[in-house]
Amino acid sequence: MASSFNIVRGLSSLAPRLSGKVAVVTASTDGIGYAIARRLAQEGAKVVISSRKEKNVQKALEKLHQDGLKETIGLPCHVANKEDRAKLFNLVSEKFGGLDILVSNAAVNPAVGDVYDCPEDVWDKIFEVNVKAAFMLSKEAIPLLRKRGGGSIVYVSSIAGYQPISLLGAYSVSKTTLLGLTRVGSLDLAKDNIRVNCVAPGIIETKFSSALTETESAREIVLNNVPMRRIGKPDEISGAVAFLCSDDASYITGETILITGGTPCRL
Ligand code: NAP
Repeated sequence: MASSFNIVRGLSSLAPRLSGKVAVVTASTDGIGYAIARRLAQEGAKVVISSRKEKNVQKALEKLHQDGLKETIGLPCHVANKEDRAKLFNLVSEKFGGLDILVSNAAVNPAVGDVYDCPEDVWDKIFEVNVKAAFMLSKEAIPLLRKRGGGSIVYVSSIAGYQPISLLGAYSVSKTTLLGLTRVGSLDLAKDNIRVNCVAPGIIETKFSSALTETESAREIVLNNVPMRRIGKPDEISGAVAFLCSDDASYITGETILITGGTPCRL
């Protein structure tokens, strides 16, 4: 009894595990990105949110501020736009004086059909946003992370990266690519004390997945593959990301956490 009491008392006296950290979360005005930004802020980080539309940024900031998360700022940033990314990193340096955490979360999925029917321009768009932007954001963040003596990068992949989702072939390939970037990036950046990890959500209730979750029949098809028999929530992704960004994960790099309600999947 005495020792468990001490453990509990010890934990309650700990500072929030991300206090003093500065985070950038892309595509963070809605869905999984918003949940991640809110969770990192709740755990003490200063957070820069962003997405393409100014009005979405303002709305998300209002909600965060109403929740008492005052050390959150934001700006419009289309992740595939070089100038937008430059403004994002300028803002984080100017307002928060550096960067410790990058969460690369944006993705698009404009193609539905067999993978070899995907038009070239659509393939390019998917890879530009889902893969190249994650790579470029990381490249641009690394000097800032190095200045702080290290940090953490987290990519948001998908269960589709392991187990292709029917008719979402090009998207699935893009998400598998992020698993590779996580492995290679973690090896190259270990010497800089920068950890590179990834989360691969299953089907999570957001606008992005609405085609798979809106109707009873679509939900039933999804749930047939989910042992926990329910669709996930954005907040069920954000805790894993906060863990990966924190010192609790200080010896974890190059890993992907699958958050799928137990859906079997492998590469
Ligand atoms: P969501 O709810 O539809 O939210 C998308 C967010 O991204 C919005 O804030 C949107 O705001 C922003 N956005 C879209 N395109 C952008 C771009 N090019 N640059 C910057 N921001 C952009 O989507 P979600 O379901 O949370 O998905 C987030 C990530 O989780 C994606 O990488 C997705 O592949 C992954 N994922 C989702 C699921 C799922 O079932 N939901 C499963 C596995 C993986 P604006 O419109 O203002 O830009």
